[in-house]
Amino acid sequence: MTNQASFHVLVVDDEEGIRSGADRILTRMGCRVTQAANGNDGLKVIDADAPAIVLLDMKMPGIDGMEVLQRIQSLGREILVIVITGYATLETAVEAMKRGAYDFIPKPFTPDQLRIVVNRAMETVRLRQQAETLARERERTLLDLDREQSRLRTIVDFLPSGLFVTNTEGIIVLMNPACRQALNLAADTATGRHIDAYIDDERLCSLVLDTSRGRHIDAEDIPPYEFSPSDNKFLMARCQPVRGANGQCLGALVNLMDITTLKVLDRLKSEFVAKVSHELRSPLATIHEQLALVLSDMIGQVPENDQHLLSRAKEKTQGLISLIGDLLDLSRIESGTVCHTPKPVQVEKLLADIVDFLQAQARAKGQTLEFAAPDEPLPPIKVDPLALESIFGNLITNAINYTQEGGQIRVTAEHAGPHLRIQVTDNGFGIEPRHLERIFERFFRVKNDRTRFITGTGLGLPIVKGLVDALGGLIQVESTPDAGSTFTVLIPVNTPADA
Ligand code: ADP
Repeated sequence: MTNQASFHVLVVDDEEGIRSGADRILTRMGCRVTQAANGNDGLKVIDADAPAIVLLDMKMPGIDGMEVLQRIQSLGREILVIVITGYATLETAVEAMKRGAYDFIPKPFTPDQLRIVVNRAMETVRLRQQAETLARERERTLLDLDREQSRLRTIVDFLPSGLFVTNTEGIIVLMNPACRQALNLAADTATGRHIDAYIDDERLCSLVLDTSRGRHIDAEDIPPYEFSPSDNKFLMARCQPVRGANGQCLGALVNLMDITTLKVLDRLKSEFVAKVSHELRSPLATIHEQLALVLSDMIGQVPENDQHLLSRAKEKTQGLISLIGDLLDLSRIESGTVCHTPKPVQVEKLLADIVDFLQAQARAKGQTLEFAAPDEPLPPIKVDPLALESIFGNLITNAINYTQEGGQIRVTAEHAGPHLRIQVTDNGFGIEPRHLERIFERFFRVKNDRTRFITGTGLGLPIVKGLVDALGGLIQVESTPDAGSTFTVLIPVNTPADA
């Protein structure tokens, strides 16, 4: 309604000359004009076809301007009244303004004076209409926002996994019912307190706090965190920074997944494997020993073919015995019952002994196997020596197995900051990049023309990785097919056993 042509102006005056003069001027300004010769007629027009502006003469026969003004005001409509004060005094104009008139124009007036007053009134009407439109839009936006928020709230409340949001100070500002349940909190636990009032796990609290303060730029860098809020309950927390429109960190979003069933299944599986392996080990060892006895008795007495068959059977039982041994080692690692007898270990001495022990195996393939002792003695570390023997025994045996006859294997050890860095390098078959990621998976073995006849279980490297993890260390591998591989193990000088 901001279009000038649509402004309806009513002129109420008993003087015909004033009415027609105003009509002409206002029509030329683009207004739609209606005339009324007295107060009653004017009120009828107002009733039938609400004008935006009324030009109202104060002094008229019948009901006078002041009364018409009062009736217009009592309607409560948004009509601007400009009073025309003729021979009346200025006080009348002031009184009319007090009673709600918008403006006044004294008689006689020039066309310009009329135009100025009406233009001002039209501008006011326009501004009022704009303000109304804006207010309506604001109301609608607020309503939409409210609907959107309640929709999101419903979704968050019905999510099956726990979810909470913190601000930059680590105060929990949102928490869904699944989260309260996961953390064993009462259903009516309110938000608004620091994270450590809800979660009794220092490492998780500091991970969430770091994320909330924007210390982790990329969500991918934040490792999932496993913790146990109570006996027999395991949760996996994944944190993610919440970013504002300009990329600034506003807090953290944390998702809690109940992984208790997975943990129980994993434990049952390990227990089952351990039990089966344990039951199989003794009879297999007996069969193996008896086959060895029979074979030694048979030499020169039975056909060579029969001897060959029994030798194959003996080899196979030996393979099964190592598989069972590996499975039992893995179960022990999974149940956390390894590395339990830490002692101070001089790593260079332990490595020299393992290299000595495996020298015969390397020599049988015409390989050179050497240990380059460090110039300075390494600091002793407190670990379970059996764990270290298993790690480096496996890595060096692999290097011998997966290196051609006449190849070279070198073991080095050095002190590197908070770690001991031990490397096993060979110039053997190497590993293709596509296999590199998988060699630490259980039962994964690279199958090609060169490895086909090498016996193995595919459990050696998973055992190595499990043990290195248990020592709080790190294992990496670099390899080039047909050129060789280097396995690097970093072991903290202060191992978890020291803590
Ligand atoms: P296994 O030796 O019993 O097969 P591992 O878990 O020890 O099982 O090793 C997995 C696979 O990784 C091996 O089958 C082999 O293909 C590859 N691999 C391990 N060490 C080396 C190495 N030093 N050089 C080349 N390949 C290797």
